[in-house]
Amino acid sequence: MPIGSSITVKVHALSLAQDCALLGARVRTIQYLTGLPAFELLRMLFSARHPAPRGRTPDSREWYHRANLLHRVEASVVIGSFTRMRVAGFAPADALVAAYQDYRTLYSRHCRISFDRAFDLAAHTSALWITCTRSFHMVRCGRCGCEAIDAASLRRSGPSSCPFCDLLQRLDRDPRLAASLKVHVPPCPEAWIRELAPGTQTSDGQ
Ligand SMILES: [Zn+2]
Repeated sequence: MPIGSSITVKVHALSLAQDCALLGARVRTIQYLTGLPAFELLRMLFSARHPAPRGRTPDSREWYHRANLLHRVEASVVIGSFTRMRVAGFAPADALVAAYQDYRTLYSRHCRISFDRAFDLAAHTSALWITCTRSFHMVRCGRCGCEAIDAASLRRSGPSSCPFCDLLQRLDRDPRLAASLKVHVPPCPEAWIRELAPGTQTSDGQ
């Protein structure tokens, strides 16, 4: 190992740990992403005034299929971004942090997907960190062109139920849903899709 490279690795892990903590990650999640021991993370990142998040860790394998529409849309946005960053060559932990930061910027008013949930979804989509099994994969919808999470056991040309298409249909007839999103529905559905899932291609390939 070249001189200084172990220091570079450690500094990167510490920086990543800090980013994860700022995004609300549990100690267990930060441990998996950085490889740093729990006692070190607790000492450096948390205090009596700023305690580590507690509670049950998410398990998304069943959750996603029972989740409401807005949760499925936002989960697909985060994991779609994570998957594209992985394809572009980002390391898994860096891809997840960057994807979640983008998602927080996009949904600054109300993020329905926690960082720990995004970690669990990414793990079960890419067989990383906590599992060797892919429970999900990303499938591009033939109608709207967005990529959505679907069960990995059901390989098909498009998602069983595209949450982006479902949302578009419901926005037309459910004003309370539009009000809850505090959005103006553009006259062109594809403009709305681009706003929902940036980075995805619309059906005309733009
Ligand atoms: Zn669709």
